[in-house]
Amino acid sequence: MLKYFNYDIVFQEVPDEITLAINITCCPYSCPGCHSTHLREDIGEPLNEEVIESLIKKYGASITCLCFMGGDSDPEEIARLAGFSRSLQKGLKIAWYSGREILPANFPLKNFNYIKLGEYAEALGGLDKANTNQRFYAIDEICTMKEITNRFSGRDF
Ligand code: SF4
Repeated sequence: MLKYFNYDIVFQEVPDEITLAINITCCPYSCPGCHSTHLREDIGEPLNEEVIESLIKKYGASITCLCFMGGDSDPEEIARLAGFSRSLQKGLKIAWYSGREILPANFPLKNFNYIKLGEYAEALGGLDKANTNQRFYAIDEICTMKEITNRFSGRDF
C-alpha cells in the first residue's frame, strides 16, 4: 500500500502542464542531500482510488496533469493507480517522478505521459541543472520514451 503526505498544484515539474502533485512517503532511497527527508518516513494517509477520485473531482479542469511524486517502494501500485487516474478525466496527463535509474521489466508505459528517472544527487542538481543525472521523458501513444530533459533548462543535448 502506498501512502501520501500531502499534495499541491505545481507548474515547474511537468513542462506545459498544470500539475496536481501527490507527495508519496516511504521512499526507499537515501539520496545524498535529500530535499524531503520526511518522505522517507512511514507516515501519511493511504493513497487509493477513493483519494485520487476525490482530488481529481476537487480540481477538475483546472489541472491538466496528475503526478505521482515517489512511490518507488511499490512501482506496480503506481502503475495501477496511474491507469485508474487516467480513466477518470478525459485528457488528463499522468506523470511519475521516480528515483530509480531504470524502469521495472514490463512496466506499463501506456498508463503514463511523462516519467522522470534518476536519484537526486545534490552535487549534480535537479532537472534544471546542466549536469543533472536525472532524465525526464515524454511517452507517446505507441509507448516510445522521448527524452525532453532539456525542456527544464532550455539546453540542447
Ligand atoms: S528520492 Fe531521494 S531526494 Fe527524493 S525523497 Fe527519496 S531520498 Fe529524498
